[in-house]
Amino acid sequence: MTLISSKISQLPPYLFSKIHQKKEALLAQGVDVIDLGIGAPDLPTPSFIIERLMEEVQNTANHRYAPYEGIEEFKQAVAAFYKQHYAVELDPKTEVLTLIGSKEGIANFIQASINPGEKVIIPDPGYPVYRTAVHLAGGIIVDLPLDENNGFVPRFDQLSDLDKAESKLMFLNYPGNPTAATVELNTFLEAITFVRKHDILIANDMAYDLVTFGAYQAPSILQVPGAKRYAVEFGSLSKSFNMTGWRIGYVVGNSEVIRALATLKSNIDSSQFIPIQKAAATALQSDLAVVSENNRIFEARMECLHRGLQEIGIEVAKPQGTIFLWAKVPDGFTSMSFAEKLLQEAGIIVTPGVAFGKNGEGYFRIALSVTMKRLHEVIERLKRMDWKGGN
Ligand SMILES: *Cc1c(COP(=O)(O)O)cnc(C)c1O
Repeated sequence: MTLISSKISQLPPYLFSKIHQKKEALLAQGVDVIDLGIGAPDLPTPSFIIERLMEEVQNTANHRYAPYEGIEEFKQAVAAFYKQHYAVELDPKTEVLTLIGSKEGIANFIQASINPGEKVIIPDPGYPVYRTAVHLAGGIIVDLPLDENNGFVPRFDQLSDLDKAESKLMFLNYPGNPTAATVELNTFLEAITFVRKHDILIANDMAYDLVTFGAYQAPSILQVPGAKRYAVEFGSLSKSFNMTGWRIGYVVGNSEVIRALATLKSNIDSSQFIPIQKAAATALQSDLAVVSENNRIFEARMECLHRGLQEIGIEVAKPQGTIFLWAKVPDGFTSMSFAEKLLQEAGIIVTPGVAFGKNGEGYFRIALSVTMKRLHEVIERLKRMDWKGGN
C-alpha cells in the first residue's frame, strides 16, 4: 500500500527546498554563503505596522476566529487602496477577499475555478506555484511563452486555436517574477480583449504591485474598462511592506469567482488572525512612504549589481520593478550548471532559470535581498571566478 496520493508523489520537489539543503551543507562546512536565491525582502517590517499588531493582540476580542471572508476593516482598506492608487472601485463585501498570503489564494483559486481536465494558461517562465496548483487541481497546463525579444510580454495570438478554445483560465504576473518585466496598461487591454473573445477567466498576480523604480507605476488589470467581468487580481503585503512571514494578502475583482474561492476556503481555513489583518489595513492606508524608502534601497542594489554584472560581461536588462535581476547564463553553461558552479566555486546562490519553466533555460534569477556590502562582495567573487569557457 502506498501511503501518499499519486498527485503528491508526482509533484516535483519544491526547488527552493533543494537549494536550501545544499546551502545548509555548505554552511556546515564553514563556507560564507551569499544567498541570492530567496525571493523575499531582507528588510524588517516597518514599526508602525508592528505597533498596530501589538496593540490589537492585547485585545482579547481579537483572539477568536475571524470571519471566513476576512474582517471588514481590512477589506475596506484594500478597496480604498485600489480607489486611491488605481482609481478602481471595489465593493469590499463582494469583490475583496482576505487571503493567508497570496500563494495560498492562488493555489486554492485554481482549485475553485477549474474542473479536472480543463486547460490553464500559465506564463513560462513563471512563479512555480501556478504549475503545481494546476497539477493539484487536475488541470492541464498550457505554457504561455515569454520571450526577451518581446520584453517578456506574451503574444496571445501565438497560442494554438485548440488551446484558445479549450482554456478556462489564464495567469499573468506583472511586475513579473522571475523576469522582473513590467507592462503598461495596453498589455492588460490586449489580454482582456483576448479573454473576452475566447471566454477565459484571467488572473493577474500583483505580488510586486508597489515594488517599482523611478517614475514607473505598475497598472492594475482592473483598470481596463469592463475587466471585472473576466478578471481577478492577487495582491500581497509580503514584498511591498516586508511582511512575508505575516501571511497576508487579498484577491479582488470578479465577485462570482471570489465567492467560489471563499466557499472553498471556508472548508479549509478560517482566515487570518484578526490583529494581522488590522495591522495590514494600517499598512495599506498609510502614505506608503515606507514603500518608497524600500524601493530606493532595492533600486540602488539593482543599479549596483547591474553595473557589476555588465562589467564582467553578463547580459542583464535593467528592470523597472521587483526585487530581481534576470540575467543571461554565459555561453557554455546550462542554467543549472551555471548555478551549481556559482555555488561550488563562489558560495553564491542564484536560482537557475529552468526552475521557472523550460523557457527559463539560459537565464538565472538573482534576488536583491542582501545588503549593498554583500552585493559588492558578490561582484568581487564573480570577478575572481574563471567562468569563461563553459563547464
Ligand atoms: C512572493 C510571491 C507570491 C506569494 O506571496 P505571499 O503573499 O507571501 O504568499 C506570489 N506570487 C509571486 C509572483 C511572488 O513572487
